[in-house]
Amino acid sequence: RMPEVAPRGGRSRLIVLAGPTAVGKGTVAAHIRDHHHDIHLSVSATTRPPRPGEVDGIHYFFVDDAEFDRLVSTGALLEHATVHNKYRYGTPREPIERVLDAGGTALLEIDLQGARQVRAAAPDATLVFLLPPSWDELVQRLVGRGTEDAEERARRLRTAKVELAAQNEFDYRVVNEDVPTAARDVVELAQAPSRALPRA
Ligand code: 5GP
Repeated sequence: RMPEVAPRGGRSRLIVLAGPTAVGKGTVAAHIRDHHHDIHLSVSATTRPPRPGEVDGIHYFFVDDAEFDRLVSTGALLEHATVHNKYRYGTPREPIERVLDAGGTALLEIDLQGARQVRAAAPDATLVFLLPPSWDELVQRLVGRGTEDAEERARRLRTAKVELAAQNEFDYRVVNEDVPTAARDVVELAQAPSRALPRA
C-alpha cells in the first residue's frame, strides 16, 4: 500500500531529490536534515560497505545481500535499485508511511531508477533534479572528493550522462552552485502547494 502523498491542503509531502553522481545530492540532503527538522530525511538500506565516518542507522542501514533480499521479498522497501551496476540501495517503506500519515514531509535522496519507481507508485510526489553548474564542474567534484578510484569514477561518469539525459522527467531542476542555496530551493519546493509553481 502506498500512503496518500498529499493528505492536507494539496501539498506534496513526498520529495525526491535525484541527480548525477558527485552533484552534491548527499550534501544538500544532509544540510536539509540538519537545518530543517520538520523534513524527514529517509535513511536507505544498502549492501555497500560503510565508508569511514558513516554510521549505521544514520547515513544508511548497512545490510548484507541476504538481508536486502529479505527486505525486497517482504515488501519492506518503497523502491530499490542496483546503482552504478554494483551495490543495492532501497528506501524503507515504514518510516515514510509514518511521516506521511502524520501529515509530515519526507525527503528521499535516491538515484534515477528509484525516482522513476516513486513516480509510478506515487504520482503526486515532487521530483527534483539537482544539476551541477557544468559538466566540467561535475568531473572536478568527483575527482576532488577522492572517494573513488579511476575505474569507479569512469563508471559513475557514464551513469551521470544517462541520468542527465533524464532531467526532463523531473518536476523541477535546481542548480547546485552552493549547498545552502540549493537546500533552500529544495525546501521551498517542498513547501510549495503541489502543482502550483511553474515547472522547470
Ligand atoms: P553512495 O554509495 O555514494 O552513498 O550512493 C550512490 C548512489 O545511490 C547515489 O546516487 C544515491 O542517490 C543512490 N541511493 C542512495 N540511497 C538510495 C535508495 O534508497 N534508493 C535508490 N534507488 N538509490 C539510492
